[in-house]
Amino acid sequence: KSKNSQRWHLLSITASRKEELKQRVYWVERLRDALDNDGFVLMAQSIMCLADNSVSHYEVLVRLRDEDGQLVTPGHFIPVAERSGQIVALDRWVLKNSLMALKQLQERGIHLAVNLSGPSLHDENLKGFLEQELATSGARADHLILEVTETAAVTDFAIAQRILETLRGLGCQVALDDFGAGFSSFHYLAQLPADFIKIDGSFIRKLLDSPEDQMIVKAIAEIATGFGKKSIAEFVEQEEILAMLHQFGIAYAQGYHLGPPIPISELLSAS
Ligand code: C2E
Ligand code: MG
Ligand code: MG
Ligand code: MG
Repeated sequence: KSKNSQRWHLLSITASRKEELKQRVYWVERLRDALDNDGFVLMAQSIMCLADNSVSHYEVLVRLRDEDGQLVTPGHFIPVAERSGQIVALDRWVLKNSLMALKQLQERGIHLAVNLSGPSLHDENLKGFLEQELATSGARADHLILEVTETAAVTDFAIAQRILETLRGLGCQVALDDFGAGFSSFHYLAQLPADFIKIDGSFIRKLLDSPEDQMIVKAIAEIATGFGKKSIAEFVEQEEILAMLHQFGIAYAQGYHLGPPIPISELLSAS
């Protein structure tokens, strides 16, 4: 390589690094603005019980509202918020607003599942915050499910175990999200205080064409049942997949085939 082309290469690395930093600063500022001005919208996606095809559970999914009313999905800002530390405030905003919604929905037997990132789970004031918001909202703890990724629960395992125990002590339920996507071990699964196991969507999406995924999903369904936990399959996009999951003994299903996320306001105004 000539000296000139090497120099050009270095310059372009610096340029793309600069662009990346600019992007991050942009999102941190947008998040700060949204946190100050309630600039988020909550969506709700149904989770169907396969025993009787009833829907009494919904997962809450956050969106950032654009100036023109468009909704930005969390893939664009959650990783930034996790790096900047803003995720703790964001998850609290979601929890607070979900509990206010739950207060109205619980009379219809509805349960809400809310996602918590690793830093939020490990935030030492989480318990106090939840206690306070449960009290002020009047929402029932046993109708709240906290979704924690398997990865967040297995990092600092002993500590996570204690935190999940505490959350269940408040009466809340716990779901292990994206199960199987990280370095899961059935040993951990047995030891973790969780009520639900959400099998990662990557095992579900191509289920019909993958005998390996079928074996894995069937095994997780059996193990979940054996450990007294309820299984949930996410990313259910076809009727045939739903039928197969039912046959495997999966307890709950969620996905575009059963319904996309809708604004939680629609759920609140429906009766
Ligand atoms: P997740 O908790 O695993 O949520 C499921 C994601 O899959 C959602 O994406 C949902 O819209 C999408 N999805 C649902 N059904 C299907 C389907 O049939 N096919 C496919 N391909 N996708 C489907 P979304 O809303 O973009 O959220 C992405 C992730 O962002 C969530 O994954 C969760 O990890 C995170 N997230 C969302 N809301 C919050 C929040 O309030 N706090 C935190 N900490 N994380 C959140
Ligand atoms: Mg989730
Ligand atoms: Mg999930
Ligand atoms: Mg997922």
